[in-house]
Amino acid sequence: MPKADGQFGCARCKVPLEGPAKPKPSDRFTCPVCGTGDSLKNVEGEVLQQMQEQVASKVFSGARDSKYVKVERKRIPKRLYRFIILPG
Ligand SMILES: [Zn+2]
Repeated sequence: MPKADGQFGCARCKVPLEGPAKPKPSDRFTCPVCGTGDSLKNVEGEVLQQMQEQVASKVFSGARDSKYVKVERKRIPKRLYRFIILPG
């Protein structure tokens, strides 16, 4: 399983989530600003899924740009994620 670098943060507030120093997967991490939170396991899962989707969409748009130069700006609606990785 890939390990995400950096710190888990709130996608809306862009602040680090707060949690225990040595967290277990079941420990809860929460945003100190808006209170959004989940267990470490779920936060991590969501962030990893998000990273995979970003990689996939980059590959996709790259392939598109090379083949079709026509203006096609329609974007696939992005899934809303609650958590992000803040650069460490
Ligand atoms: Zn927040």
